[in-house]
Amino acid sequence: MSRTVEFTGTTAVVTGGASGIGKGLARAFLASGCHVVIADVDEAALAAAAHELGVLGVRTDVTDPDSVSALAERAVAEFGEVHVVCNNAGVGPQGPIAGLGLDDWRWMLDVNLYGVIHGLQAFLPVLERNDDWGQVVNTSSMSVFFPPAGLGPYVAGKAAVLGLTEVLAAELQAAGSLVGATALLPGAVHSNIKNSLRTRPSTGATALRDVDVSLSGRHRFLDPEDVGAMVVEAVRRNDPYVVTHGEWLPRAADRHARLQA
Ligand code: NAD
Repeated sequence: MSRTVEFTGTTAVVTGGASGIGKGLARAFLASGCHVVIADVDEAALAAAAHELGVLGVRTDVTDPDSVSALAERAVAEFGEVHVVCNNAGVGPQGPIAGLGLDDWRWMLDVNLYGVIHGLQAFLPVLERNDDWGQVVNTSSMSVFFPPAGLGPYVAGKAAVLGLTEVLAAELQAAGSLVGATALLPGAVHSNIKNSLRTRPSTGATALRDVDVSLSGRHRFLDPEDVGAMVVEAVRRNDPYVVTHGEWLPRAADRHARLQA
């Protein structure tokens, strides 16, 4: 469906916006002329980032559907509409599958998968109200294509996010919707994600040292601002994927070609 994207005066909401990639997304949408709302569970980091960027910060826990609905209501109350939602909040690696408890799986999937699902439930109806365009951006990960040892629940959640975003894009297109969906697949990006290990429920034998981070070691780390600029451009074009580390692009593009066939 062809559409014209004008960012000035529109609103972008970014979950996990207090840090790392989310903060980079917020900066990029701000620079493109959007109003920006950042949402995060970390109240102190949220307040600092909102102050630094000069944007509205709304304390949100993406694992709680009511909290995400309240975020959508607040953004609409403040700005009248939302054109972009970046379901980006996420937590990091955990360790080998054999050492994980069910609580570890549930915690990771609650944030990384259900956090995205709650975002879709709350924001899709809002985006569909626009008479011009709207875009969902869901953060998956390149680890889906090169799954390193130690990232079982992480890769499971991110693979699900990639799959549901592809399905959503196809459904929106089939319905002739002016809303599009993009999967963001970052490779290694400078952020605080390793710190999120501290908050995992099970503090058993598994630790970051057990996780094979060779995926990160082999590839140049990007800055969140680079990722933000790529995403803004992808939203402009309604690209189905943003693959931050170009060497993997053909694989994602093949997937999309198959999807369209
Ligand atoms: P980060 O830790 O710097 O930022 C993640 C933010 O999400 C934090 O501010 C954190 O407080 C917030 N968050 C965590 N749980 C939340 C919850 N329940 N509700 C609301 N906010 C919550 O990490 P990042 O690397 O910028 O991560 C952003 C996204 O990018 C994540 O989905 C991550 O999986 C993905 N990703 C990152 C990389 C990388 O190399 N940094 C690579 C691939 C994918």
